[in-house]
Amino acid sequence: MAHVAVIGAGFAGLATGLFLARRGHTVELIEKDAAAPPDDVEACFADWTRRGVAQARQPHLLLSRGVRVLQEEAPETLAAFCAAGASLLTNLGQRKQAGDREAVFFVAARRLPMEAAMRGETLGRPSISLTLGEVDGLIARREGGEPPLVTGVALADGRKVEADLVVDASGRWSKAPEHLAAIGADPVGETSQDLQFCYLSQWRRKRAGAPFPPGFMPLTINSAFAPFICFPADGGVFSVTMAVSLNDPLRGKLRRPEVFERVANAIKGFEPWLDQTDAITEPQVMARIENRWRSLAPEGRAVVRGFALVGDSAIHTNPTFGRGISFACLQARWLAEALEERDLRSAAFTREFEAWKVAELLGWYQAQLVADGRRLAGIERALRGQALPEPDDAPSRFVAALSLIAPENPQIAAALSRMMHMLTTPQELARDPVVGPAVAKRLEAGGCLLPPMAGPSRAEFEALVA
Ligand SMILES: Cc1cc2nc3c(=O)[nH]c(=O)nc-3n(C[C@H](O)[C@H](O)[C@H](O)COP(=O)(O)OP(=O)(O)OC[C@H]3O[C@@H](n4cnc5c(N)ncnc54)[C@H](O)[C@@H]3O)c2cc1C
Repeated sequence: MAHVAVIGAGFAGLATGLFLARRGHTVELIEKDAAAPPDDVEACFADWTRRGVAQARQPHLLLSRGVRVLQEEAPETLAAFCAAGASLLTNLGQRKQAGDREAVFFVAARRLPMEAAMRGETLGRPSISLTLGEVDGLIARREGGEPPLVTGVALADGRKVEADLVVDASGRWSKAPEHLAAIGADPVGETSQDLQFCYLSQWRRKRAGAPFPPGFMPLTINSAFAPFICFPADGGVFSVTMAVSLNDPLRGKLRRPEVFERVANAIKGFEPWLDQTDAITEPQVMARIENRWRSLAPEGRAVVRGFALVGDSAIHTNPTFGRGISFACLQARWLAEALEERDLRSAAFTREFEAWKVAELLGWYQAQLVADGRRLAGIERALRGQALPEPDDAPSRFVAALSLIAPENPQIAAALSRMMHMLTTPQELARDPVVGPAVAKRLEAGGCLLPPMAGPSRAEFEALVA
């Protein structure tokens, strides 16, 4: 059995720890945020200091694909989420019923209580320990012409942790490329797309525990220059989110609670959500959004041995599709399964993990790049008063047509939902005997493929913000 050091105790680190421990390995999680989560859910959300996770108070849903991994690997974690107040909701807002294993359902909860529940499950295992401290470098040795072999990590305070395998789960601002360069490894493969917008999210609570309105979740209302979104969470709490371009001159004003609420209250479709609610936070801002893919085996050549990237440090995406935690769970499971049958200190192990990520996750990542490229171009055109461009590449046209016919056809809506939850790929849907022809018919019929713009016009928005 291996001793594995994991840098970072966010979702990826916790999932890695849980999945490895159940296979008999010992795990040392190393986390730079020293604070432990308060027991009370509201105190956890309001007071838990998580400087290492900038998005800690942004809305999070755990998609069906991630739920399924947890069901198989750590069902007690899902039970702990629910004990902390999270709901298992279907895409129409109904609660999961006993026995509907196949339904598309997701976890709706605020991130911090959800993370605290998973952390409690993880640290409750005797074979998992937590070391508080900041990892500042890697310990490695060279053997012949092989890539460097990582044998441990160095902490900023001088302590060292030795391990058979080091997993970097330190999130989107991982220092892995610098740490690897410092031990003489060849450069990590890296591609990224900078997204010039920020998220503003305000949390609100339904009075007297009224349920959320039914309908597709999260509820998204589009304007040409910004989407407006209601995310369900735990305990009658939900968030109202606006994703605004960094080039939008009105962006700064939305930080003011009275302006943010004026805009939210004017959005048609938000009324049943906002009715009978109180704000529990000011708008929380998060910028520096990007898509980034890192590989430890660029062009099929491993740059390191005994070291792996899991979670956002490997792949992170703009959260419009909420895939980050599911990506992390899938990677953690591959790693845990691979450790049972492979030599974890070999270059082949590094190569195979990266090849698996390409085979399983690159398609989702590339779809995000295409969607974000279109979204960015559309928002910038809208800010210049120009019309939005119609989707012109085949994958975008397929998804656009699918989204337009879904509201009229429950079978198509279910298929769309399965795709949004990463249970079916767009390619599989295109081959589906019902979905494929229905989409083809819509495309042949011609007509506008842009999503309905039900949010405020630019002039209305400017008047609301002024
Ligand atoms: C606005 C926003 C909304 C999102 N919404 C969703 C959503 O709805 N659904 C979804 O699935 N995903 C969502 N995500 C993505 C999700 O937050 C991430 O995918 C997820 O947190 C990845 O977990 P991680 O463990 O890789 O990284 P993180 O959760 O960022 O954890 C990294 C951990 O490493 C620690 N750390 C960092 N450096 C060091 C170091 N040197 N030494 C020791 N510890 C270190 C940090 O303190 C932190 O605890 C969203 C992201 C954003 C930005």
